[in-house]
This record gives sequence, C-alpha cells and structure tokens, in this order.
Amino acid sequence: MKCSDLGEFGLIRRFAPRFALAADDPRYGIGDDCAVLPLSTDRVQLVTTDLLLEDRHFVRRWIAPHELGHKALAVNLSDIAAMGGTPTAAFCSLGLPGDIEVAWIDSFFEGVEELAKTTGCPLLGGDTTKARDGLVINFAVLGEAEANRVKYRSGAQVGDILAVTGYLGDSAGGLRLLQGGHPTSGPAETPLLTAHHRPQPQLAAGHCLAVRSAVHAMLDVSDGVESDVRHLMDRSRVGACIELTRLPYSPALQAVSNAHQWALETLALTGGEDYVLLCTIQADAFDEVARALAQETGTTLHPIGTITDTDQLVYTRDGQPATLSGHGFDHFR
Ligand code: ADP
Ligand code: MG
Repeated sequence: MKCSDLGEFGLIRRFAPRFALAADDPRYGIGDDCAVLPLSTDRVQLVTTDLLLEDRHFVRRWIAPHELGHKALAVNLSDIAAMGGTPTAAFCSLGLPGDIEVAWIDSFFEGVEELAKTTGCPLLGGDTTKARDGLVINFAVLGEAEANRVKYRSGAQVGDILAVTGYLGDSAGGLRLLQGGHPTSGPAETPLLTAHHRPQPQLAAGHCLAVRSAVHAMLDVSDGVESDVRHLMDRSRVGACIELTRLPYSPALQAVSNAHQWALETLALTGGEDYVLLCTIQADAFDEVARALAQETGTTLHPIGTITDTDQLVYTRDGQPATLSGHGFDHFR
C-alpha cells in the first residue's frame, strides 16, 4: 500500500493513535490546529508547525521572497488564531539550495520581521542547512491562551450555526491566475494575488470569538472549507449542511470569476489557503457574536450552514439538496 492510497488525513489517523494521551492527561495532542500544554492553572501553551516545500506549496518565481517569509509565518499564526491564542515566539528552519542569492534570504527575513513585529511574535530560533534541490521552509510557533477559553475542533453541537470570518476563494483565485499565466495585476486581480501571497492571520477575531462561550468550535480554513468542515465533523462527531448561496465571495473574485468563467462554489469550498476562521456558534447567540466581532475587530461573520445530527456533509442551494464535485486539498491525493 502506498501513502497515496491512504491520503494525508488517513496517514495521520494511522500513526496518531500510537501517541494517544490518557483521558486525564492535561495535554492535548495530535488532531487540532495546535497542541495544547498546561502552563499554569489558568494558562496554556499552544504549539503549531507547518512545512512549505518549493514547487509543492509555492513556486519561487511566482512569489516575492518577502511575501514567502510573510506567508510561512502567517500560516502558523493562523493556527494560533484558530485556538483563540496570542502568539509568543516563532522558530524557523530552512533547507537552502546552494544557488540561492543572499539578497533573496535578506528579503525573505524582511517579510518574516514585519509580520513578527506587527503580531508581537519574535523569531527566537530555528535551524539552517543546505538542501540538495528545492527550498524547504518550516516554522513552528508558540502561543498562549486562557485555559478555559481555548476552542477545539471537537466542540461543535447539533443546531449550531456554521460561520466563516471572511471571503472564501480569493487565495485559490490568485493561484489560478498564476497557474494560468495571467498574473496581470489589475484592480480585480491584485486582491486575489495578495490573498494568496500575503494571508492575514485573524488573531484579533480568533481571540474575540474564543472568549465567547456561545462559540463552540473553531479551526482555520487551510485545506478548503469542505475539507475543514469534515475535520470539524470528525472531531465533533456531527454532520453539517452548507447552504451554497451563503458562501461569501469578494467583489474582486466575482469579477475575475466572471471573466474566466470559474465555478465559484468549487473554488470557495475546495480551493483552500483562505486562512479565515471557521467556527460553530449557538444559534440564538449568533447575532450578538457577529455584532461583537464587527465592533471589536471590524470582521464580518458570514453564516454558511448548520451543524446536524447526521454524520454527513450535505449541500443545499436555496434550501434544495445540491451536489458539488471536487474535494479539499490532501497532500497525497
Ligand atoms: P493544520 O492544517 O491546522 O496545520 P493539519 O491538517 O496539517 O493541521 O494536521 C492535522 C493534525 O495532525 C494536527 O494536529 C497536526 O499537528 C497533526 N500532524 C500532522 N502531521 C503530523 C506528523 N507528521 N506528526 C505528528 N502530528 C502531525
Ligand atoms: Mg489549522
């Protein structure tokens, strides 16, 4: 059997049980956006790590080095945001091909520095080594949160409203422009390319949502909503229904999609790398949470569906059952 037969998530499910913690262990291991370790009676440490490989996660000639530095750190900060935490430290390990220009590295770390400063997450270490071919970039980020405010993927409850904290599909649209050789930076294209190259981790929104008890579960959208909702369903043992007409699209994505005849729903649900937050909220508290989120952080909460008591993910369009082709990102498929 090959890894591709199991897929990324099948593989994780295969080895993770070896490392399962005892039911009374205060640590939280494999399976959420971050691992969670106790720091004191009321504080926890969050830990997350992400690996970016050249020609797998990025193409060097398509992304400026400072953008790649930003993105490599941002995707980890997004996992801290997804738990409702505050980042405290970053570690960066690099595998560098010998031919890489020093100016490229300077610019890469400028991008890291800028985001590290604005998020209060200094770089405190890492490792540097020569790679045979292709850049290898790994960040690990630590964060902290109040112990009883951390939001897990496992907290979703039947009847909750499923919501996202931003537009879907912009990053996937940017990637399509790059892949199609249309990176013309017009007023419509620029926001898509920016979404793809410089995702903004939603730390303030994550914190605002995490402190509210009506928010039951949270994760960030990295693989694509369809795949990430399935992670939520797996961990919470619930089903979900997504109303396709509620998926939020940016004006830029609508304009570019019209021009290129892209299927917006597929892009939004399976594209991935949105790095918005996906959460489930007690239905009767939704309006109040949305109002607080808008007031405190300027972030719009878009309801896209509900949590159900089945084990299925179903789609509706204007309330009628609908089907969708395509799946979220899985590294081995
Ligand atoms: P995210 O997209 O939030 O970074 P992933 O989907 O990459 O999360 O991973 C799912 C879970 O599996 C996470 O808890 C992650 O820490 C864990 N995981 C993934 N790969 C490994 C690995 N090689 N060893 C241990 N844990 C892993
Ligand atoms: Mg995540």
